[in-house]
Amino acid sequence: MNRIKLLSEQVANQIAAGEVVERPASVVKELVENSLDADARKITVEIGAGGRSLIRVTDDGFGMSRDDALLCLERHATSKIQRAEDLASIATLGFRGEALPSIASVSRFTLTTRERESGSPEGTQIIVAGGTIAEVKAAGCAPGTSVEARQLFFNLPARRKFLRTEETEAAHIQHYLTLAALAFPEVAFTFVKDGRSVWQLPAVKSGAAASSRIEALRERFRALLGDEKLLSANFTAALADDGNSPAPEETDIFETASPEKSAASEISNLKSQIRIWGLIGSPGVSRATRDGQFVFVNRRPVENRGINYALIEGYHTSLMKGRYPVCCLFLEIDPAAVDVNIHPAKREVKFHREFEVRKLAAQAIKETLLAFHSEPVKSTAEMPSAPSELKFVPEASAPALPNFPEKLKPSPPTPAQIPSAAQTPLKMGFSSAVQSAPSSKSVDVSPTAISQPPSSSATPLLNVPLRLVGVIGKLYVLLESDRGLVLLDQHAAHERILFEQMMNRIESNTAAPSQKLLLPETIELPPRDAQFLREQLVVLTKLGVGLSEFGERTFLLDALPPFVKVPDTRRFVFDLVDELRAAGREVNLARLGEHTVAKTVCRHAVKANDPLGGAELENLVEDLRHCAMPYTCPHGRPTLIEMNYRELEKKFGRTQ
Ligand code: ADP
Ligand code: MG
Repeated sequence: MNRIKLLSEQVANQIAAGEVVERPASVVKELVENSLDADARKITVEIGAGGRSLIRVTDDGFGMSRDDALLCLERHATSKIQRAEDLASIATLGFRGEALPSIASVSRFTLTTRERESGSPEGTQIIVAGGTIAEVKAAGCAPGTSVEARQLFFNLPARRKFLRTEETEAAHIQHYLTLAALAFPEVAFTFVKDGRSVWQLPAVKSGAAASSRIEALRERFRALLGDEKLLSANFTAALADDGNSPAPEETDIFETASPEKSAASEISNLKSQIRIWGLIGSPGVSRATRDGQFVFVNRRPVENRGINYALIEGYHTSLMKGRYPVCCLFLEIDPAAVDVNIHPAKREVKFHREFEVRKLAAQAIKETLLAFHSEPVKSTAEMPSAPSELKFVPEASAPALPNFPEKLKPSPPTPAQIPSAAQTPLKMGFSSAVQSAPSSKSVDVSPTAISQPPSSSATPLLNVPLRLVGVIGKLYVLLESDRGLVLLDQHAAHERILFEQMMNRIESNTAAPSQKLLLPETIELPPRDAQFLREQLVVLTKLGVGLSEFGERTFLLDALPPFVKVPDTRRFVFDLVDELRAAGREVNLARLGEHTVAKTVCRHAVKANDPLGGAELENLVEDLRHCAMPYTCPHGRPTLIEMNYRELEKKFGRTQ
């Protein structure tokens, strides 16, 4: 008996819709992607009742002819790819030709479209109900396309039942629109919810240059998500040829045989490039969830575990455990080096060279964070001596430490008084340090900083002069800058300094000072823990921790660095093992062991309540200035907090 039958087109579309149209937000996503693929400059999204009663997406893109409008409702009808090979390098957001027929099969659907290029003032309107075309007619409309889907899942009560509340569905829609708007700042977006306008984002003009695109992104980001302390990332690297491109030898043969040798090599160069650019949170800026993390591959918002790891790797000691980076990061890579056809809603992508992409993404983040602080220092080091007239003259009111000054600055400087980085040379020295003993490290002027944007938030805190005011709670060092109040966590700062010194030691292979213990301790560990520790013994020795094997699972601790003051030496070893175990489950970084060991040693180095004298505090700030990543301790907690005059005025109710 024959049992198998071909399904009707309508049922097939509904099955496809099961994958493509998960919820109202998927409809919005597919329609907006179509508008973006159609080169729209302005997109309007209207929704009603969380998208259940109405979704309408209107664009001013290139529109469709009558024939195309009819064809686009057929399954597997697309203008974006033609051959199977095209699937290997997709440059558009859509490519399956499934979205419109799927949406039309599960809603009351109207498509109105008019070709942008055609002279005719008339467009086409097609009305579809549950997958069946009800009407095709000529319609007067603006150039572009408008797709309306009403009563989503009206013919699939089971699916309709699974929809969440209007607010939840609307939130999903808004989330997708945020992603789309971030990826396309040059497109104007309007979002109307239940008749009320939520956004009216004007198009942001931008040139082709990287800096101009970053600025456009920054403007769009601010319009959508408000002000965040974000650094500009701009990174390009070579990516090894992927397996699908011709092998180098083949390219060579082709090149020598071809007269267009230079054109061919240009193409192969392009193939091997990866650009990683965008905005990333300054050190210390983080979230408890991944909600502030936006990642795009060739402008497509994606979820990719490798990149998530890369972000955490890149931030490394600038991120607290359990916190997530804030970023809006764009990866641009040859479409042939990434597979976008692995997820029904195209949310996930797979890189052919996953590991390499991940490594480069981590490097891009790390370099951006390092550059934030190191640039001005680097260039000041290049300047042998600063002109004397630029030397910082200590303020007369500089206090005797650690007392508080008798007179605080009478009033906050007006914006005109605030030395803008663009006009005023930045004073790098720590005022009292300059006064008492100008160290060879203290610098007076920072030429690179001058070229930085004049906005105060853009100038890193340690690149502006800081004046010591006092210490509170035996821990927090109070400093004053031209921008306002600065608090330094003495313990966190010390940890950062020690950590970097230790890492430098490991790198340069110089042994750290070590002090023999009066009473060596033997410590027995479970086998797995013993293994973690055994792998790090060499690093531990380099750091001045005298730990040696004393049996299969027993270790002997007989020396510690002099600055490590632990009342309980056994606890110190257990802490170390705990950290290594926790780190082992996390990101697998080549130097993770070293970092973990160094971090743990640092944690035991200084106690919060150690009273430090004025000179010591000055040295602390000065040493911090010379760190590569001074703004967080090795565990990612901030070392410095700034409260500028604007914030103070707000708190005191002087301004709104
Ligand atoms: P895909 O985007 O995968 O090609 P869709 O079903 O989403 O499949 O769309 C089918 C085709 O209809 C597209 O390839 C495109 O040619 C056309 N189309 C859809 N939406 C628009 C639009 N807003 N403007 C112009 N053409 C569109
Ligand atoms: Mg599409």
